[in-house]
Amino acid sequence: MGLSRRKFLHRIGAVGGYGAAYSVMTTLGLMAVPAKAAPLQLPATLGAGKRVVVLGGGIAGLVATYELERAGFKVTLLEARDRLGGRNWTLRNGSKVEMVGEADQTVSFSEGLYMNAGPARIPSHHQGLLGYCDKLGVPLEVEVNASRSALIWSEGSNGGQPIQMRQGVSDTRGHISELLAKAIRKGALDQELTAADREKLLPFLRFYGDLDESMAFKGSERSGMTQLPGAGPQLSVKRTPLSLKDLLANEQLRQTLFEEQLVQQATMFQPVGGMDRIPAAFERAIKSPVIRNAEVLKIRQAPAAVTVAWLDRASGAERTTRADFAIVTIPLNILAGIDSNFDPAVKAAIADVPFGYSNKIGFDAPRFWEQQQIYGGISWVGGETNMVWYPSNGMHAARGMLLACYASGDVAKSLAARPMAEQIAIAKTAVGHLHPGHAGDLSRPAVVNWSKIPFNLGPWPAWVGSGRASEGSMVDAGFRLLNAPHGRVYFSGAHLSQLPSWQEGAVSAAQRTLGLIAARVSQSAATGGGRPAAPA
Ligand SMILES: Cc1cc2nc3c(=O)[nH]c(=O)nc-3n(C[C@H](O)[C@H](O)[C@H](O)COP(=O)(O)OP(=O)(O)OC[C@H]3O[C@@H](n4cnc5c(N)ncnc54)[C@H](O)[C@@H]3O)c2cc1C
Repeated sequence: MGLSRRKFLHRIGAVGGYGAAYSVMTTLGLMAVPAKAAPLQLPATLGAGKRVVVLGGGIAGLVATYELERAGFKVTLLEARDRLGGRNWTLRNGSKVEMVGEADQTVSFSEGLYMNAGPARIPSHHQGLLGYCDKLGVPLEVEVNASRSALIWSEGSNGGQPIQMRQGVSDTRGHISELLAKAIRKGALDQELTAADREKLLPFLRFYGDLDESMAFKGSERSGMTQLPGAGPQLSVKRTPLSLKDLLANEQLRQTLFEEQLVQQATMFQPVGGMDRIPAAFERAIKSPVIRNAEVLKIRQAPAAVTVAWLDRASGAERTTRADFAIVTIPLNILAGIDSNFDPAVKAAIADVPFGYSNKIGFDAPRFWEQQQIYGGISWVGGETNMVWYPSNGMHAARGMLLACYASGDVAKSLAARPMAEQIAIAKTAVGHLHPGHAGDLSRPAVVNWSKIPFNLGPWPAWVGSGRASEGSMVDAGFRLLNAPHGRVYFSGAHLSQLPSWQEGAVSAAQRTLGLIAARVSQSAATGGGRPAAPA
């Protein structure tokens, strides 16, 4: 017997409260999703008698397991690695880095230092992930994502000297404001602006660019001082502004706008002690079986159940797990190599998605950057290493972890093709451009080429149907197919979100999948269907 949509929602609301009805309604597309979604809240008895196997213990798999368990499902999580977190991975002294085709590395950072090899920052509006940090008691601190004391450097610009971010930002703004004021005064914008607008814009430009009375840019205290104001008669001395020509010659000038991107805006966060505090907190909260070293080899679904065959990498034994539903969060490029009886169109959609490139290289170093008043933030060098990212914690300690490379895309592909020793040398040289004389201070490198990391082999997807964007598009038939349930199998994970390079994407994809399962289970209970699958 069919159940009307209204009755169905009413029933879900009655058992699960507003949160459950809300999540199902947004899943069914009946409600516009507001900027801040309500926390997922499934009814505690929703999954009674139902088994779910979750494949992959990254953030998506952990969210799914945690929520299903609370909704009364019997859940088993299978994770191929000997740790949880997936791309959420923190390296410390003693951590092992295995990369396909490279010698294994054992990290030897000083005590207390760590490197977030994957995710390292959380924007304020990633409320799904921040909500779990709050609920699971993960202490957060501010991640200093941008510093006006950091630097931009580009070959041949400014006589080879880096430019301080504050000078790049303010001098560029000053010159552009002066030019715009000139254009207005010459009447060049009379067609675009009314006389009243012009009258208001000129004083604003004077403030915006810190122009003098004649509307000329002669330098600004915002760009920094050659002498800071001090005691008694010590006056501040402004810097001579850089010419617009010198500024434009710096290929990294556009990075003065890096922190304007919504996902990079203050306030950003990081968990105290490393990003892997998040999977550790999920692990503490989850009581269901979480099996590590469980490498999924085969997925078979039949009308009555899904059966997953997996290798216990610790003992070499092969085992199976049977369930009513499988949530598959394994990255698509890895899933493409796993034996399954998925429909040919689904298999083709999975195999169609190559993954991209991204590298990080970290060093243990004395905190020489603090002598230049750099406390956190990012300096930009371009090229294959792209940036130098300073630690946001441990200020004034003896040593810190300096991330001397974080780059993605084509430049990351070419860096990863080089021998590791060469990658390290290039990263050191880049630090030397920014901080002359300090390349030699960098020691104990850790190199992570994500394209070579087993069980990921890439940082995020490059969807073919969407012009190799990392986000899939609903216009792409493959992306649409993988976002829909496939029999008893639900594909999930950050790659099935519009935030594939953010943990928030993993959280939102997992919650969307849970909404789909909740709707199905509620509907099947309401229509009297659904016998649970017998365990293997
Ligand atoms: C370099 C880099 C920087 C990033 N920076 C940020 C950032 O600053 N902030 C942010 O929020 N996000 C960032 N991200 C993105 C974020 O890490 C991911 O979006 C998110 O962690 C993905 O979670 P997931 O669960 O979807 O996938 P994954 O974490 O990849 O989880 C998939 C799991 O499946 C497992 N698996 C694979 N094969 C098998 C198998 N055969 N059997 C069983 N298990 C298997 C894997 O081991 C893994 O644990 C970054 C990612 C990278 C790579």
